[in-house]
This record gives sequence, structure tokens and C-alpha cells, in this order.
Amino acid sequence: MNKNAGWGIMISEQWARVSAELRSEIGENNHKSWIEPLECVSLNAGVVEFRAPSRFVGDWVKRNYQDQIFQRLRSDNPAVSRIEFNVGTQPRSKPAAAGSRPADTPAAAQRDTNLQGAPLDGKFNFDNFVVGKPNELAHAAARRVADGGDVTFNPLFLYGGVGLGKTHLMHAIAWELQERRPDLQVLYLSAEQFMYRFVQALRDRQIMDFKNLFRSVDVLMVDDVQFIAGKDSTQEEFFHTFNALVDQNKQIVISADRAPGEIKELEDRISSRMQWGLVVDLHPTDYELRLGILQQKAALFAQTYGPVRIGDGVIEFLAHRITTNVRVLEGALQRLFAFSSLIGQEITMDMVQDCLSDVLRTSDRRVTVEEIQRKVAEHFNIRLSDMLGPKRTRTIARPRQIAMYLAKELTSRSLPEIGRRFGGRDHTTILHGVRKVEEMRGSDNQMAEDIDLLRRLLQS
Ligand code: ADP
Ligand code: MG
Repeated sequence: MNKNAGWGIMISEQWARVSAELRSEIGENNHKSWIEPLECVSLNAGVVEFRAPSRFVGDWVKRNYQDQIFQRLRSDNPAVSRIEFNVGTQPRSKPAAAGSRPADTPAAAQRDTNLQGAPLDGKFNFDNFVVGKPNELAHAAARRVADGGDVTFNPLFLYGGVGLGKTHLMHAIAWELQERRPDLQVLYLSAEQFMYRFVQALRDRQIMDFKNLFRSVDVLMVDDVQFIAGKDSTQEEFFHTFNALVDQNKQIVISADRAPGEIKELEDRISSRMQWGLVVDLHPTDYELRLGILQQKAALFAQTYGPVRIGDGVIEFLAHRITTNVRVLEGALQRLFAFSSLIGQEITMDMVQDCLSDVLRTSDRRVTVEEIQRKVAEHFNIRLSDMLGPKRTRTIARPRQIAMYLAKELTSRSLPEIGRRFGGRDHTTILHGVRKVEEMRGSDNQMAEDIDLLRRLLQS
């Protein structure tokens, strides 16, 4: 009998003992639901590996029973130093990052491990991305880059509010390129990681290595680039990297939470360079898109939690009520799935009210007139006191009218109520301001853009 088989028997016997002890500790029902489904696979270098039938069970056990399991195993056998939970029969590591391969593929030897980027989420692929009016352009541009053909626009600059799918699209590009063009070095990372690596290289006096590394990739994707605004030396290095790659005709993809020109403290030369390529905007979701996303996520969650019946009107209600952020929408649905699979009942409207009361409350939260005034004043660089005061010069009156317009649009306050909050103005003054802006935004592109941006900032 070889040594491994010996260990295998020992660990499974040991687990049988520990499992029995746990039964009396946590009760028959809990034991049946959470402990019995676990398979104890191996003990290797002190690590005991368990396999859970679903991510849900795995996460639950990790959160609730990990310590108990560990302590019992260890007191039984001091060689145990750690326990690990994996799901199903999947391989332990899938391609974790752009530019890298799992360690056991032959190609790994030729890959530079330094080129490892941030881990890619397996679910963030094109198949799982629901396309609607608000994101169709961004999607089409991402598809084009993911073809891996000639570089037609450089960089691709994706921007939009939190949770609208920027990271999802970038990962999708990386996955697709790995598939279609395995010959290309694709590096995906956040701007924060870029900075971290840069600072580390400075500290370790390895800046030449850093430069060579970043200049050797074929596709560079930097997520959340607004992060490096105001960080001078990182910006500088980013700019040089960017130029070097563009000069070599290498594709660059950037994301940010706003348009290049709107990122404060981003150097002008950088922001104007960003606009050489294609700048596309992920618009806030509309009702149809949210419906589509919910349907698609329901199918995904069913893979994790098993099939769950969803009562009439539930999906429509969620799409109607949770409007700002797809991540929140998705989290809400996931919570319903987890709960429903736990108690073995369909998702009803009552369950929605119970389980999601906190989410529904915050999505009820309306922007206040005061917030609007503050943001608008900040955006146009005027004082809040001037916004509320009597001055009538254009540089102050125009922002004031925009704030009035947004107050009417985004809050449920009446015109007289808004008037009171604008330093006690009459409701006819507010009405005039609102009308003026409505009229101008059709012909004044700059104004329309300002309003779009402010609306986004206020609603995120
Ligand atoms: P961002 O990077 O713009 O903040 P993410 O890409 O992280 O947003 O998206 C947040 C969540 O919403 C992710 O789970 C993502 O899968 C999901 N999501 C956003 N847009 C879509 C879409 N169009 N189709 C499917 N899922 C989406
Ligand atoms: Mg993101």
C-alpha cells in the first residue's frame, strides 16, 4: 500500500470520527444539511481538503463551522495545519489571471509569472453580459477589441457609474482574447495595482524591470483609472507606459467612473491622450435591461442554489425598484435565492419585503436638494453661499438654474419647497429656471453633458 493511500484512509477515518462528534454538537438537522454533504478528499502537507457540492454549502460551512471542524481535526491529529473547501469536482485552480496559465500546462514555462494580472472572474464573460440600449455601444466596442484583430482605436476608454458593467466587460475581453489569441500577452489589472507595483519597483530599485515588463505586453487593460488621479509619479509612469504601447500599436483598454476630461487632477496631457481612441459611455440601466439581467442572473443562481420557483411579479418588482446599480440588484436576487433554497419555498412578494427591507429602504432614499446644491456648486467651482444668494451674474445664475432643474427632476419636492431651499425664492423663479434649462439643454451640448454627469454622481 503506498503512502498516499495510507494517508487517505487515515484522514477519512479521522473525518468519520470528527463528523460524528460534530453531530452531537450541532444537532442532527444541521449535521444533515451541512456536514454530511462534505467530502473529505485528502490530507496533504498539513492541509485537509474538503469538497462541497455547491458554492452555497461551501460558503456556509466556511462561515459557520470552519473553526469547529478545524479544531477537532487538529486535536485528533496535530499534523493538520489548515483546512480548505472547494466546490464540486472542478479543478482546484482555473486560469487565474490574464497572461498566465495554470501551473500544470506546458505553456506555463514560457510565461513570465510577473505578467500575472489581477484574477479574472469566470462569470464575467460575454455570454453572461446582457446587452441593452444603455450599453450596446460599449459592448460592441469591447467585442471588437476581443476579436484580437488589427487595432482600430486606441485606447478603448469605457466609463460609467458604479456597477454598470465596466469590470465585467474588461474581464470578458481578457477571457475572449485568451481563447482566440493565446499568443498574445494580455495583462489586466486595476489602476491601484499598477500603482502598487510601481511603488514596489521604486522601492526595490527595479524600475527598469517594471518598465520592460509593462512595455512587453500586447494588450494592457487598466481598470478604474480615476484612482491614479492626483498621484503624480504614478500618473507620469502610466503616461510613459501608455505612449510606449500605443507607439508599438499595442491595444490598451481603460475604464473609469467618469469621462477622461471630468477626472479631476488627471493631467491634461493624459486626459487628452485618452480621448484619441474611442471613448464610450455605459449609461444607467433602463427597466428592460434590468429585467434581462435579472432573468440571466436567475439562471446563473439556479446553477448554484438549485432550481427555485420565482413568484409572479417578483422580477418586475425588483427591476422597477432597484435602479441604480446592477451589483445591488444582483445581490438582492442572490439573497432571495439563498433564502428560498434554505427554506425550500418559492420566492414570494412577502419574502421580498422581508428579506430585502434594507435594500428597498435605501433605494427609496431620494437625493436631497442640499446635496444637489453642494454637488453643482462643486462642479462649477462656485460657492454654495453664492448659489443660494442674490448674485445674478451668468457664472452663478446658470449653475443655480441647473441645480433647480435637478432638484425638480430628482426629488419629490414641490416648486415652493425648492424655492425655500434656494434662499427663499418664489416658486415662479424656480419654474423659470427649470424651463430655461430644459430649453437650453437641447441645443447646448456642454450643458447636456454637465447635467448627465451631475445626475450620475448624485444617483450613484
Ligand atoms: P463596474 O466595474 O462598472 O463597477 P461591474 O462590472 O463590477 O461594474 O458589474 C457589477 C455587477 O453587475 C457584476 O456582477 C456584473 O456581472 C453585473 N452586471 C453589470 N452589467 C451587466 C450586464 N449588462 N449583464 C450582466 N451582468 C451585468
Ligand atoms: Mg469595476
